[in-house]
Amino acid sequence: MTGPDKQAELQALLTEDRSFAPSAAFTEQANARDPKIYADAAKDPEGFWAKEAADLLWRKPWTQVLDWKPPHAKWFVGGQLNVSENCLDRHLTTWRRTKAALIFEGEPGDQRVLTYQDLHREVCQFANVLKSLGVRKGDRINIYLPMIPEAAVAMLACTRIGAVHSVVFGGFSAEALRERINDAKAKILITADGGWRRGGVVPLKQVADEAVKDCPTIEKTVVVRRVGDKAQVAFDPARDVWYHEAMATASAVCPAEPMDAEDMLFVLYTSGSTGKPKGIVHTTGGYLTHAATTVKYVFDLKDTDVYWCTADVGWVTGHTYIVYGPLANGATALMYEGTPDYPDKDRFWRVIEKHKVNIFYTAPTAIRTFMRWGEEFPKRCDLSSLRLLGTVGEPINPEAWIWYHEFIGRKRVPIVDTWWQTETGGILISPLPGLTKTKPGSATMALPGISVDIVNDEGQPVDAGYLVLTKPWPGMLRTILNNDDRYRAQYWEKYNLKYYFTGDGAKRDKDGYLWLLGRVDDVMNVSGHRISTMEVESALVDHHSVAEAAVIGRTHEVKGQAVSAFVTLKASVRGDEALIKELKQHVVGKIGALARPEEIFLTAELPKTRSGKIMRRLLRDVAEGRVLGDTTTLADPAVVAKLKTQYEGKDEG
Ligand code: ATP
Ligand code: MG
Repeated sequence: MTGPDKQAELQALLTEDRSFAPSAAFTEQANARDPKIYADAAKDPEGFWAKEAADLLWRKPWTQVLDWKPPHAKWFVGGQLNVSENCLDRHLTTWRRTKAALIFEGEPGDQRVLTYQDLHREVCQFANVLKSLGVRKGDRINIYLPMIPEAAVAMLACTRIGAVHSVVFGGFSAEALRERINDAKAKILITADGGWRRGGVVPLKQVADEAVKDCPTIEKTVVVRRVGDKAQVAFDPARDVWYHEAMATASAVCPAEPMDAEDMLFVLYTSGSTGKPKGIVHTTGGYLTHAATTVKYVFDLKDTDVYWCTADVGWVTGHTYIVYGPLANGATALMYEGTPDYPDKDRFWRVIEKHKVNIFYTAPTAIRTFMRWGEEFPKRCDLSSLRLLGTVGEPINPEAWIWYHEFIGRKRVPIVDTWWQTETGGILISPLPGLTKTKPGSATMALPGISVDIVNDEGQPVDAGYLVLTKPWPGMLRTILNNDDRYRAQYWEKYNLKYYFTGDGAKRDKDGYLWLLGRVDDVMNVSGHRISTMEVESALVDHHSVAEAAVIGRTHEVKGQAVSAFVTLKASVRGDEALIKELKQHVVGKIGALARPEEIFLTAELPKTRSGKIMRRLLRDVAEGRVLGDTTTLADPAVVAKLKTQYEGKDEG
């Protein structure tokens, strides 16, 4: 943990009393419709997970559900299975053989549909390509691709032969890619000539070439042709292989390698909101069980659904909720290549209308962006196919939740606010859409089979403090790659190997609902009061002129910390001194005088990670006049550089 060891007794001041019960019609058809599921799982969590795991296809049954030697867990000990076989082959003997597994919508408007049979064939062929390039079980493969079907094919092909993938988001720089390749010691890099973004080309191959100059472990680069003559690519015949050329001669027969339940499945680096990214290690049996189970219950996935998760496969959300969870359930998953504002700001809604998407899963940062653009864009599209909405990535401000409910869900669709981390492998805290009454801004409660608590520094249960996991769960990370000491120190030592420390603050309300308050480091101490940055942000976003807000505690001689707010306004609003005054007063009205921002800076953009999370640590650096910390995971370093200049000029407003 990076921050000071502070007692996180948060002032739980911002209250929210709106609530939304699931409709009888939704409950009636829901995959989880009997509330007993919670009590049964609580009585016997291992039994609950074993029952779910038994729905997968095992080559060899496990002999022990859980072997827990803190901080190391093994799930389904002795069991053997193969992930690609579970995601593909299993469906080929049923009617799903010809069902769409992936619907791909390219940014330029091209479309591809791969049935389970198609996907199986491509995966087997590509697994053979990898083998022909010398890949063996346990080798690491780096994937640096746009959001195209080949990304899923490459991931599944690795799992088929027992290679470990490390997917790096296609928006990362050469430096970030190089660091991740070298940490994972990847043997093969899979990339593309380019990808489409806002009508332009992201030159992936060029970035990859730059990166691998200093990657001694890379033997071959496989290149998917996506943009063709729109990109200039250098081709090194000794190292580079065209995907389509290798595939043309590859056999479509490739037996799936039986893997031990605890064999490494993939490594994935965290988004880097709080510091240097960590290589999170996930294994086979527990992860797949967790992925499949949560998709079934949280997203209520049915065979007739078209399901769309807007994450990139470069993030854990893309791994668990675009590829592994949906395919293990035999679902139809949609994949979209581009941005939400190309060719216009209604693109997402057009995609929903075109493919009649039923389940839609996105991030609060996207929702706040849509709010900022205005409701005219969703209003002009037919969104009547939607039956469930989800969010993940950051706490969702209640006003953003309400907007999502009103303008996307048209007031009739349940919303699941899902809390989890790269480390947790899958969702841990979320409503079950047919059972849980939701409250805007609350992720509600732990899923069946998951045990959480809120504790203070001494590990005693409190109503506001640190969120911890009190029992191991199947999707949990097994270690940090090449750094088991850091694994132990970061997640387990704080509570003497008894609890998993999430690093997030949370509070519990009188109904037992959980409210996530962001990183523990993002909690301020103003004149001895613990105030969550998240609550002040939500009070600001509650104002009709505000699109987004990022709040930090800046060192203050008298108060300890003073509240500094960085605010972006809605598209139609112009900011001035009077508005700043009004916003400060709005926070006082919503929370109280102690949360009154000392200063409010209006800015066109906030610094965010490439996955869209607000990076408060850099704003703290700005406000305290420090040199900026690690900026390699920023989406656009220019944003924070500009803010720094603006801030140092102190032209408030
Ligand atoms: P790093 O660990 O490198 O600093 P990161 O924590 O942003 O990066 P992720 O694993 O992508 O990396 O994000 C997990 C974090 O995102 C959680 O710990 C939490 O702070 C936040 N988060 C995710 N979903 C939610 C949610 N529904 N509500 C509140 N916070 C959420
Ligand atoms: Mg984290």
